[in-house]
Amino acid sequence: MDADDVSPLFAPTVFSRGEAYFHEGRVRSVDAIAPGLFHGEVVGGDLYDVLVRIDDASMRCMVSCSCPFAAKGRRCKHAAAVMLAIGGMMDGDDDGDVPIRMDVYDGIRSRLASWYGAHGPLLVWDEAVVDECAKTAADTACLDEPRFPVLSEAQTGRMTESFIQSFLESDDARRDVGDAFEGASIVLDNALATADYGQALSNALLVMRIVGSSLEYVGGDGEGFDGEDLERSLGRLAWKVRLLVEKTAADEHSEMGKHVTTAAGIMGFLREGPETLGEKIGGALLSFSRRKRTRRIADEALNGLERSMTDIAAPRRSSRLYPYVCRLRHDDLLLAGEYERAAEFESHHMDDEMMAWLAATRFLLEDASDRAWEVAARYSAMGWESQVDSRPIESSPCGWTELSVALARRRGDRDALERLRRAALKGATV
Ligand SMILES: [Zn+2]
Repeated sequence: MDADDVSPLFAPTVFSRGEAYFHEGRVRSVDAIAPGLFHGEVVGGDLYDVLVRIDDASMRCMVSCSCPFAAKGRRCKHAAAVMLAIGGMMDGDDDGDVPIRMDVYDGIRSRLASWYGAHGPLLVWDEAVVDECAKTAADTACLDEPRFPVLSEAQTGRMTESFIQSFLESDDARRDVGDAFEGASIVLDNALATADYGQALSNALLVMRIVGSSLEYVGGDGEGFDGEDLERSLGRLAWKVRLLVEKTAADEHSEMGKHVTTAAGIMGFLREGPETLGEKIGGALLSFSRRKRTRRIADEALNGLERSMTDIAAPRRSSRLYPYVCRLRHDDLLLAGEYERAAEFESHHMDDEMMAWLAATRFLLEDASDRAWEVAARYSAMGWESQVDSRPIESSPCGWTELSVALARRRGDRDALERLRRAALKGATV
C-alpha cells in the first residue's frame, strides 16, 4: 500500500496535508492491535486516534479518527497519514510469514451450504405464497356452484375500459389506481370459483392481456400515478392467475391441449407483454414443471422461449428478459428434479450473474476451488470497479469479494489476497 493506493481515498488537499504529516513524522505510533485492525496516534493540533479496520473475511475497510473534521463523516489528513504508515508496515511484512487462515474458507462453506440446500435455492417459484393464496381463495370462494361465462375479447375489454376512462377524466388519478383493475379482478375471482379451470383460464389470460395493453394508457412508467399501488394491483392479479394455473395443473382430468395453450399464453406475456406483468405471471409456468404429467409442457415452452431469444441478433446478455428466463429455467429444472441438467444450465449461462453465482457456490461446496475461483475472479473484478461487494442473490449470505477472499486463502494465494486487500482499501468507508 503506497501513496497511489491511499490518495484516491481522500480529497486532494486532505491527502497532501496527510502526506506532509506522514513525512514530518507526526504519526507517533501505529500498531496492529488485532488481525486487520490498526491503531495510530497522530500529533496535530491535539493528539488524535485513528482506527483503520480491514475486515479479514469480507475485505471491507473502515477508517475513523477522533478529530472534529472526521466527526462530520469526512476522511481527514490524520487518517491519510496513518494509512501511509500502515502501508510501510505491510510492505516490510512481505516475508510470507502471515499465516493463511483456513477457518475463513470453512466458515463460508458452511454458511453457503445451509443457504444452498441440497440442490440450490428456487429463484422465481415461491411455494409458500402459492399455498397462502390457495387458502385465501378457498376462504372467499362462493359456495354456490357459479356458472362461468365465456367472455369475448370485447367483453373483457370493457371491464378495464371504465378504469381507463375514469383515469383520463379524473384530475386525481393517483388515488384510483388501487382499484384500477377491479373488472379484471372480478373475472379472475369468478375463474377461481369455477370448477372448469381450463375454460376459466383462457378468460383469465385474455383479461390479463387487456390489462397489459391498458398499461400504456395509464402511463406505463408510473408517471402521474402511484407506481407502488399499480405494482400491488398487478401483483394481486398475477397471483390469481398463478393460482388458477396451479389448480389447472393439479387437475388429473384436465386436457393436455388446454395446458399447451395456457403455457403458450404465459410465454406470450414474457415475450410481448409489459415487463412488469410478464415477470409476475411467468412463474405460473412452474406449476407444469413440478408435475410428472405436465412436465413436458413447461420444458417445451421454455425451449421455445430460449430459441426465440438466441434468434435475436443482439447479445443475449443485453436483453432485459435474459436474467429472468435464466431464473425461470433454473427453477423449472429444480422443480422437475433434473438436477444434473440444472448444473449444466448454470455452467452454460455464466454470462448471467445469478447463474454464475450458483455455479461458483456449487463448485465451492464440491471443494472444486480452482473452478470456483475462475468464476469468482471475473465477477469480483466487476464488483471492485463499482466499489461494491455485489451480492447476486439477496438471500445469499455473502457476496463475490468475500467468496474470493475465502478461495484465495484456500489456494494459499498471497498475491491475490494482497490485491483484494488493496481493492478493499480503495472502497474504504468512514
Ligand atoms: Zn482526523
